[in-house]
Amino acid sequence: MIIKPLEKSKELRIYQALQDRLPFSSQDKTTLQNLQQGYQGETQLESLLTERLSPSVLLLNDLYLQLGTTTFQLDSLIITGDTIFLLEVKHYAGNHKYEEKNWYKLPHQEITNPLLQIQRSESLLRRWLQTHHVHMQVESRLVFTHPQFFLYQAPLLKQFIFSSQLSAFIKSMNRAAPAGKKEREVAQQLVSADLGDYPYPELPAYSFTDLQKGIRCHSCGRLALSSTGWNLTCSQCGAADNMEEALLRHIVELQLLFPDDKLTSKLVYEWSGGIISRKRIKRLLEKHFKPVGEHSWVYYI
Ligand SMILES: [Zn+2]
Repeated sequence: MIIKPLEKSKELRIYQALQDRLPFSSQDKTTLQNLQQGYQGETQLESLLTERLSPSVLLLNDLYLQLGTTTFQLDSLIITGDTIFLLEVKHYAGNHKYEEKNWYKLPHQEITNPLLQIQRSESLLRRWLQTHHVHMQVESRLVFTHPQFFLYQAPLLKQFIFSSQLSAFIKSMNRAAPAGKKEREVAQQLVSADLGDYPYPELPAYSFTDLQKGIRCHSCGRLALSSTGWNLTCSQCGAADNMEEALLRHIVELQLLFPDDKLTSKLVYEWSGGIISRKRIKRLLEKHFKPVGEHSWVYYI
């Protein structure tokens, strides 16, 4: 039973909203790629677990907890009747090598050993549970979701779950003791303690003036929609988009990047690059938002 579904992090949403609006440095590109790759792995795992896990075990995704002055993030927890399984998801692609406790992406790029990461998370989770008077066993697993991932010299560790072993792992979870009232309370306690999004992501600097204006295509993600009467069409991939839906998505992106700016028809018009008339933008704002103020000073909430 899914108790807490996966949500796309604010950091990833901001990077995606800035894509094509700002020239990204190679570091920004890498960050966006890593965030997207991580999210893809977590989404794949969540849909598999939601589909196949028995309702007798509890699934919580994406928790961000605090212990004293330390904060830590957990990808997924499966709670059975006697154990909490902590799953750390890695969507690595391609060939890797494990050698003397070091981890390499072949041919020779050393990367952080994910076993160390999960050991730290497991220890912090165990201490968090002790602090909250929860006495349950904790076990951790590293789940490799990418079908094209291969690890040379993989040690025989029960922490590793490769994509071909996921089915067997899910079956073992379904055979475990079912979660009862006590475990559901623990799950609720964890959800209540969740801090939400990581508060200090490293983002590229941006300002309204510097960003490329335009409306993003829902299909290819490029800033390439142009008006064709009542609808919008993408000049890159040819997809058609409903004007109202596209404008609402467009406003979500604007408010995500500039949460402190007042929503006005002028601002939305500028943000769209002038491809939709202010009159239409005003009508849509009146339909979906509440006006505050009068005449040319009106803004929407
Ligand atoms: Zn497109």
